[in-house]
Amino acid sequence: MALLKIRQLTARYGQITALEDISLEVHAGEAVALLGANGAGKSSLLNSIMGFVRPVAGAIEFDGQPLVGVSIADRCRRGIGYAPEGRRIFPGMTVKENLEVASRAARAVTAALMEEVFGIFPILRTKEHSLGWQLSGGQQQMLAIGRALMTGPRLFLLDEPSLGLSPILTTEVLDRVRAIIARGTAVLLAEQNVARALAVANRAYVLQTGRIVEAGATGALRENPRIREAFLGG
Ligand code: ATP
Repeated sequence: MALLKIRQLTARYGQITALEDISLEVHAGEAVALLGANGAGKSSLLNSIMGFVRPVAGAIEFDGQPLVGVSIADRCRRGIGYAPEGRRIFPGMTVKENLEVASRAARAVTAALMEEVFGIFPILRTKEHSLGWQLSGGQQQMLAIGRALMTGPRLFLLDEPSLGLSPILTTEVLDRVRAIIARGTAVLLAEQNVARALAVANRAYVLQTGRIVEAGATGALRENPRIREAFLGG
């Protein structure tokens, strides 16, 4: 059974259609990439799954249960974690407080989860008492991911982790995402950096102006002439 199942989802902002007739699935433990250029609809899709955007049509099921009418906090408690685009960490709180606040919101067990997060991102342990704004861009991205993990998610939604990071830091962050996947957490990764995302995911969906235009295993997509031309430099 799919952990996440989306059927014919449509979302709009006033007159603008951000998502049109989207159907996709993510299975337990699977890493799925959501690819597409700026404005393709990746964030809108993740925001719809998390409950920040209310779709006008279609259905989203998580773990066999419809998510319609379920609050953002309850989606979190049911096992959906989210690291949004732009990180949105709390700049005036310490690293530790940023992590604690998320587990409290999800009513998860703080100490054990924090140990797990520090195991994945040792740098965060050394910065435990630093304020959010004092961290580098890469460390802030790690904190945003760590904060999402503090809710103990079975499905982790990750939006544009490479945004604003150097190639070296992107490699470091995506290596850590691989470690999260290896522990059995399903990941839905939205990325404009297609080559990077294909190197992390098992499968991918390609979005263009709110519609899925390609889907498949990452190996096949890498060889797909349309994908090569549009995203991988020919
Ligand atoms: P990006 O990487 O730039 O975030 P994206 O693939 O995540 O791109 P979305 O942010 O989901 O794309 O945007 C999809 C479409 O919806 C775009 O046309 C965008 O301009 C529009 N859009 C997104 N958010 C809003 C909003 N709050 N109000 C109006 N239009 C919006």
